[in-house]
Amino acid sequence: MSDCIFCKIVNGDIPAKKVYEDDELLAFHDINPAAPVHCLVIPKKHIPSLLKLEPEDVPLVGRLLNRARELAKDRGCGEKGARFVINAGSDGGQTVDHLHVHVLGGRALVWPPG
Ligand code: 5GP
Ligand code: ZN
Repeated sequence: MSDCIFCKIVNGDIPAKKVYEDDELLAFHDINPAAPVHCLVIPKKHIPSLLKLEPEDVPLVGRLLNRARELAKDRGCGEKGARFVINAGSDGGQTVDHLHVHVLGGRALVWPPG
């Protein structure tokens, strides 16, 4: 999608600190980190929200979550843990309408979020 920030990162039109890339997934540092480890994992395909998921994309989301798990382990969160967050829609706090998983770690996180 032409006006989507994350599609622009996928296309190289906006720079990002990439930490992983393959044919269908991309991971990069969040520009405004909320924890020592804060990366975003996205599908390269523009999927607006988890709430807008098409059945054909369900396996892709499985691979997205698995990549988030691998990333947390790679960034030193395998033992002490991490948080995996998908915000969806306005009440869910989603601000970028391109499906993404936040991987947060490196400190003890409180629950519940605000
Ligand atoms: P959401 O609130 O939609 O779940 O999360 C969007 C996240 O994207 C926020 O944590 C925000 O800091 C991050 N973000 C927004 N714009 C950019 C950008 O241009 N580059 C990067 N790396 N992260 C961004
Ligand atoms: Zn997009």
